[in-house]
This record gives sequence, C-alpha cells and structure tokens, in this order.
Amino acid sequence: MRAENIIWLFLVLLVLLVVVISSVQAVPIFSRVGAIDPVGSKAACPFPESGSISVPISMLGQGLVIPFGPTRSAQEKPVGDHITGEVQHGSLVEELLQGNLKFRDDVYNASIERNQELAAGQNPGVLWIGCSDSRSDPERITGAGPGELFVTRNVGNIVPNHDWSLAAVLEYSINYLNVQEIVICGHSDCGAIKSLDKDLHDPYIPLWLNDAREAKTRVDSRIMVPKTPEEMKERNHQMELENVRLQVEHLMTYPSVKTAVSEGRVHVSGLYYDLATGTLSVVT
Ligand SMILES: [Zn+2]
Repeated sequence: MRAENIIWLFLVLLVLLVVVISSVQAVPIFSRVGAIDPVGSKAACPFPESGSISVPISMLGQGLVIPFGPTRSAQEKPVGDHITGEVQHGSLVEELLQGNLKFRDDVYNASIERNQELAAGQNPGVLWIGCSDSRSDPERITGAGPGELFVTRNVGNIVPNHDWSLAAVLEYSINYLNVQEIVICGHSDCGAIKSLDKDLHDPYIPLWLNDAREAKTRVDSRIMVPKTPEEMKERNHQMELENVRLQVEHLMTYPSVKTAVSEGRVHVSGLYYDLATGTLSVVT
C-alpha cells in the first residue's frame, strides 16, 4: 500500500473515532449541565427543587451557604383563590356592610347635597398625621365633617426620615390640595411608645420604631428612673409628648413642608389626645 493511502486511511479512522466518542459523551454531558435540553425536563435540571448551594471558602474568602427553593408566588395560592365574593353570615365584614347601609340612609342621604359636592372633588384644609390606634379616629375626636381632613395614620404617628409614602402624602396635600395646617397627633396608652421599652423580635416593628427611639432617650435623660407605677405612667406620658415633638422635627426635614412653612402657606402643630378624658390638647 502506498504511503499516501495509509495516511488517508489513518485520517478517516481518526475522524470516525472522534464521532463515536462524541456521540457517547454528548447526552450525559448535556444532562449534567442542563445547558441543552429542548423540552426543559426536570431530569436535565442540574439542581434539585430546593435545598442549598454551598459556595466553597476558596471562592469567597469564607464559607457561604445560599438557600434556595420554590419562589413564594409558586407556594402561595393565586390571589383570586382567597377572594370568594361571599360574605360570611355573622362576620365582622357583614357588620361593616350593614353599618354602611345605615350610614348611607341616616347620614349620607341626610346631607346629600354636601356629599354630592364631595363626590366631585375634595378641598381639605388640614393634613392629619396620626396613630393607627383604633381609639384615635381623627374625625370622631375632632367632630370634623367629611372632606375636612386629609388623613394618614401609622403605628406611633411617626414621621420617618426619607419615607416615600409620607413624602407623597405631603407633596400631594401641600402642592395640590393646598392644605393650610399639618397636624401630628399622639395619644395616651400608645402601644408604639410602650414598645420602645420592649425587646421585640418582629422583622419590621423594631425597624419602624427606630424613628421614635430618640423620644425615649430624651425623656430618660431628664427624669429620674421611675420606681412606682405612677412614675412609670408619667414617663410614658412624657415619651408620648416628646414623640410628637420629635416627629414635628422630622416633618420639617421634608422639602415640601420646609418650603411651604417658610413661605407662610402651611402651619404645623403637635396635638395630643387623652383617651381617658376625650381631651385634645396642643403639644408645646
Ligand atoms: Zn398609638
């Protein structure tokens, strides 16, 4: 056989060998990495549905375990499954609906002209920032009528620093509703203020209360350590008042408020509601 033919035969055998090896290894290799899987089958997925990935120390400087699993949305029922459109007989929601019928007949329709005006637009004079406490409903304790108060309430009547939600309320009420007064109202027996003394482990409440902790620090720096229940009660009262002052300070850091106050368009007040007497007073 000529040397040229031997070379050609060798090349053909070499090509055949490469093809055979590739066909044998292709499936397991692709299955392992999950890189090419035309139907995306679970069998080809390189990871289990849940568990954790251990990242070796050499990659990160220190060991790290990254947990993973199904996303929350995959675990939860679709939102629509929770809404039946039916109200359970005897439920609190049924009570609310019944109450609304009574309100509509006795209150709304009794002032139908005013309520029809309000249906077309609002022009409140006051922005009320209050606590979510169920006992401190601003319209009830002030006798304000519908459309008179623009209200935002949260746990502890707090004005957080750099809060987008509150910033939007402030800008909207000042720049578009042209409110003339902003009120921050605290109240007695406030759960938020009492929580400043507790070591809570909830994921969000302690973070939220961070913008009120200064009130506790200020009060504790100027009074003796309380010893009797009466002294403890008085300390809480002082913290509730100080929290109103503190939140007024926070309020003034928002540009929309600062500008409106400096131009004399808006006046800011701190108020305090005493649940035990029903009295609303000015915090100085
Ligand atoms: Zn409260």
